[in-house]
Amino acid sequence: ESKRSGSHGWRLHDDSMTDRRTRDATVTDALLQALDTDQLRVVYQPLVVLDTHRPVAVEALLRWQHPQLGSIPPTEFIPIAENAGLIHRIGMTVLRESCAQVQRWRTEIPDLRQFHASVNVSALQLREPTFLADVEGVLAETGLPADRLVLEITESAIVDEDVAVPVLEELRAKGVKVAVDDFGTGYSSLHKLTRLPVDVLKIDRSFVAELDGTSRGAAVAEAVIRLSQVLGLRTVAEGVETAVQATELQMLGCSVAQGYLFAKPMPAEEFTAFAAASRVVSP
Ligand code: C2E
Ligand code: MG
Ligand code: MG
Ligand code: MG
Repeated sequence: ESKRSGSHGWRLHDDSMTDRRTRDATVTDALLQALDTDQLRVVYQPLVVLDTHRPVAVEALLRWQHPQLGSIPPTEFIPIAENAGLIHRIGMTVLRESCAQVQRWRTEIPDLRQFHASVNVSALQLREPTFLADVEGVLAETGLPADRLVLEITESAIVDEDVAVPVLEELRAKGVKVAVDDFGTGYSSLHKLTRLPVDVLKIDRSFVAELDGTSRGAAVAEAVIRLSQVLGLRTVAEGVETAVQATELQMLGCSVAQGYLFAKPMPAEEFTAFAAASRVVSP
């Protein structure tokens, strides 16, 4: 990511350690306040079936609009929330809100009965002793069936096998699905992957970006899709921006994708119109 200025002169990416620490401290304080106000909101990005462009799920993505600091991206504030011990609280808020929202869509929109909520979970949340009970609590409270929830976990989180595997196994026993986010960018060995309790591999968008119609460009995406197939997992492609990428993914055997080609993350109010439009347009 390139250097850019925040709305009040704060540089988001600075080489100076002191500036970095000052910025982090400011953001930590602001984050504590944000939790008690209305600055954090969840936006939803559809995951669509490539054949029909119909949405099968939404990924919940957190947004933070600070009155003075402006819009702060999750890539900046999630690590800060983790360091400040706030990630469990924030993560549960996103989970509760998105499960409730998806359950409303499932009951209100007839086409969306099979619809899933996909929610990002930080490695630290898996270490929280109450995590399992908290997830079950949200499902009970919102009425979303367990098998309609997908938890997205990065490869690096799963590498900590002793902690992650038992938690993921218990979640899956309840019917909750587990997706490996940003697959291919982490540290996990392929050997480990064959033993992990997961259901979905999400192909990182850096590999989707390489799809340029050549076999070299397709190499990694194809390898991930084949691996997924052999292990009996599903694949979802992230960051699909062009029709060429979508067609290539389809040819390689990936059936579900998300990306700006189909829709950017949007507020809940806009998704209803998106779902209605995709019903009219798709075959
Ligand atoms: P992620 O989970 O891999 O989410 C996908 C990211 O790719 C999102 O960025 C999304 O807006 C972006 N994206 C989707 N389609 C395209 C595309 O076609 N082109 C490009 N260039 N980008 C696309 P976002 O929303 O900025 O989130 C960044 C990361 O922050 C997420 O990556 C996730 O790791 C983290 N994050 C966001 N919300 C949460 C949350 O509630 N909890 C946790 N723990 N992490 C979150
Ligand atoms: Mg994700
Ligand atoms: Mg991802
Ligand atoms: Mg990613």
